[in-house]
Amino acid sequence: MQPLTDQLLHCALPDLPLPAALHPRWLAEGVLQLMPENARRAVVVSAGIHGNETAPIELLLELLAAISAGSLRPDAALLLVFGNLPAMRANRRYLHHDMNRLFGGRHRTAPRSHEATRAAELEAVTTAFFDHPGTPAGDRWHLDMHTAIRGSLYPQFALVPYHTHPYSPAFFDLLAAAELDAVVQHTQAGGTFSHFVSEQFQAQSVTLELGKARPFGQNDLPQFAPTGRAIRALITGAALPARQKPPVRHFTVAESLIKTSEHFTLNLPDAAENFTCLPPGYEIAAQPDRRWIVSDTARHILFPNAGVATGLRAGLLLAPGAPHLSLPE
Ligand SMILES: [Zn+2]
Repeated sequence: MQPLTDQLLHCALPDLPLPAALHPRWLAEGVLQLMPENARRAVVVSAGIHGNETAPIELLLELLAAISAGSLRPDAALLLVFGNLPAMRANRRYLHHDMNRLFGGRHRTAPRSHEATRAAELEAVTTAFFDHPGTPAGDRWHLDMHTAIRGSLYPQFALVPYHTHPYSPAFFDLLAAAELDAVVQHTQAGGTFSHFVSEQFQAQSVTLELGKARPFGQNDLPQFAPTGRAIRALITGAALPARQKPPVRHFTVAESLIKTSEHFTLNLPDAAENFTCLPPGYEIAAQPDRRWIVSDTARHILFPNAGVATGLRAGLLLAPGAPHLSLPE
């Protein structure tokens, strides 16, 4: 295990030396604000909102180590967020409640839990960061890094929250430079951290799914290197690395499979990968009061999971293309 991972898991990160010119300040446990003079943009980078999604946590620790060593010199106001520390220590997705369903104030009506308290805290520190007089108002970004539970035909992809403000061409350039394989546009509001930051602060905010979750120290870190390089370019103002892969594929969420019965079933093998294309007319899911049939246009399944609690999303059906892609006029 890397020493810095050890420090993170033992709450010892605040002892890390950091350049005084960045005015480092821990706003909460696992939340570091860096505020260089005359910052050009504001960037939130978060990982570990799900505690067992270790590779992005290690990527964020690498960035932190490089900043500490002085080899990475951000000229952006930065908020680095390690999301769910107790879940990381327990190597679990969450302790009581999926934190990435509790943002946008949903923590207030959810049952009391560690995750509800932490989601409220992360909303508060994110607000404090964007309200800071040193944080530029016009150029706001948020990358919330995750790994997926199952395999994926497109191994690395972005989930763009539903938004009504413009997402810039520079944002899509960043996703391309990060070598993401696909971009999925949400069409409904959600309780994710990225949705909250997008809506609340009109930020270019996105959830990144960067591969499959593995235990600390067992991740294939080279797979995550392009994302790391793109983040470094974003926070230093350097040119984005050139894309090596084929063009990014775009999808739009056409339908959410919401499980409202204990007797919900999903007609899909356990090994089916994200983005699997299903035949039109196929019954993908059923419960006593309804059946979900695959349409001609929305044939790709994402995040199928019959095991979610009732009331939650058991999968998404995607249509190819990006009809809701909003660009500045
Ligand atoms: Zn996650």
